[in-house]
Amino acid sequence: MSPTSYAFFEGDFVPMEEAKVGIDTHALHYGTGVFEGIRGNWNAEKEALYVFRLREHYERLTQGCRLLMMDIPYSVDDLCDITIELIRRCGYKQDIYIRPLAYKSARLIANLKLHELESDFCLMTIPFGDYLETDALRCCTSTWRRPDDRSIPPHFKMTGVYINSILAKTEAVLAGFDEAILLNSDDHVSEGAGENLFMVLDGKLITPPLGDGILPGITRSTIMEVAREELRLEVVESHISRTELYIADECFLTGTAAHLTPMVELDNRKIGDGSVGPISKALREIYFEIVGGNNPKYMHWCTPAVPKAPAS
Ligand code: PMP
Repeated sequence: MSPTSYAFFEGDFVPMEEAKVGIDTHALHYGTGVFEGIRGNWNAEKEALYVFRLREHYERLTQGCRLLMMDIPYSVDDLCDITIELIRRCGYKQDIYIRPLAYKSARLIANLKLHELESDFCLMTIPFGDYLETDALRCCTSTWRRPDDRSIPPHFKMTGVYINSILAKTEAVLAGFDEAILLNSDDHVSEGAGENLFMVLDGKLITPPLGDGILPGITRSTIMEVAREELRLEVVESHISRTELYIADECFLTGTAAHLTPMVELDNRKIGDGSVGPISKALREIYFEIVGGNNPKYMHWCTPAVPKAPAS
């Protein structure tokens, strides 16, 4: 546990229990918020917590703010600094999850608009271990479809959009599976409820293109770069059909919370021989080395936060 839990709320660092919004807050009713999920990974040897691709997360968040017409009084640099300061104040010496949220803070309801409503930014962190409960996922194809750019843009982590993921994940878990795989309205494979998807077929690494209803995942772009650079794999963005997934040699899901987690079964069919494949295994190993701050070549992706020494 962190010694003290603080949040950044209404422009200040405050104890977590003081960070509260009113029940008439616009975002609470209409899902008018945009958030991020960022990981900090504790490196005991270096006595530092490494925040992975911090800047890229805030670039995606501020782009989402533009879509939702939210003016928050912080630049990407400010947001990175606030995050590092909050982590230092909490004094973490363990892996954490970081949750920034920009939201329509206007205290009025029955107002279906984005303009002329004030917005704010808040930030919280929690100690965090594994998100998915297994390293070998059994998944099902969801009956829910991923929305596309014509209805709700999937490019940002907008709070309201997550009802779609939550419906799909609930359906999957209650049916006895670990995770849901969503198709888009054109019947192409899109992504998991909270992860991007990759498959290995004929030695190539294939992932759906941005136009197939996916979130442009930061872990996705990390894996694409590392696969090309470290394993010299051909990486292709292309439509994937459900049938292609059934005959893939390997599949895995990627996300900040999910890391890189192999999927070994889909709709009660084994993927490959039903065990974790060699490419998934190799990528996973390299990925963990990088996010933990143990690969000198990729340290530019890791922002260190050194815990503040307790006051003597
Ligand atoms: N798709 C969805 C729907 C997600 O919620 C997430 C998690 N943020 C991802 C993909 C993976 O994105 P990232 O690698 O940036 O965490």
